[in-house]
Amino acid sequence: KKITIAIDGYSSTGKSTVAKQLAAELGYVYVDTGAMYRAVTLYLMRKMLVSDTHFDKEAILRHLPFINISFVFNKEVGYGEVHLNKENVEKEIRLMEVSQQVSKVAAVPDVRKMLVKIQQEIGKNKAVVMDGRDIGTVVFPDADLKLFMTASTEKRAERRYNELKDRVDDIKYEDVLANVKERDYLDTTRDDSPLVKAEDAVEIDNSDMNLEEQFEKVLKLARE
Ligand code: C5P
Repeated sequence: KKITIAIDGYSSTGKSTVAKQLAAELGYVYVDTGAMYRAVTLYLMRKMLVSDTHFDKEAILRHLPFINISFVFNKEVGYGEVHLNKENVEKEIRLMEVSQQVSKVAAVPDVRKMLVKIQQEIGKNKAVVMDGRDIGTVVFPDADLKLFMTASTEKRAERRYNELKDRVDDIKYEDVLANVKERDYLDTTRDDSPLVKAEDAVEIDNSDMNLEEQFEKVLKLARE
């Protein structure tokens, strides 16, 4: 039986959708590690330490001890929502403004150290489905099942756009595509734990798969 399930991959490959479904089906805890990086980023943006034109590394490091990230289970949605210093920020962290800054923050080694520690703590004595970029390589190198999700850049941008367009005014497909490309670049080229497929991960290219097909495949692997 697979107790620790790591799902990594590029931005907007539908990792979280599959991970949530899988966790619900198996009765495991779902952990969205991207939400943690986003929440840290939101904190730093509010403090004006991170923006398009500003990145104050020294000040970021000084602020880290004051950032508390936790998950609070929400019965209605069926998983834990991310809280930043006790405030539910689940919605705000999905805004494009945050997406545009998060990969810079995620490249800071001390930020990663802090969040990886929390992630390992959460997964230590629990059955989890954790999604991110470095779960199978860094957070749980001994995970029982590792998935690596990919899809074409255009497909991913299209899906992200469709997700955002009902919630955000003024959203342009070109901007979403540019953001997906930018994050791919930053995530795969950073020095600390760059996004790579773990050797023993099963790669799933879902460019031409629907959600049911994907879920069926993943569930089978989890039950093997
Ligand atoms: O998964 P999501 O797209 O919400 O993640 C947002 C960003 O957080 C990613 O683009 C990446 O820069 C960073 N991230 C990371 N390591 C993780 C999860 C997310 O560096 N485990």
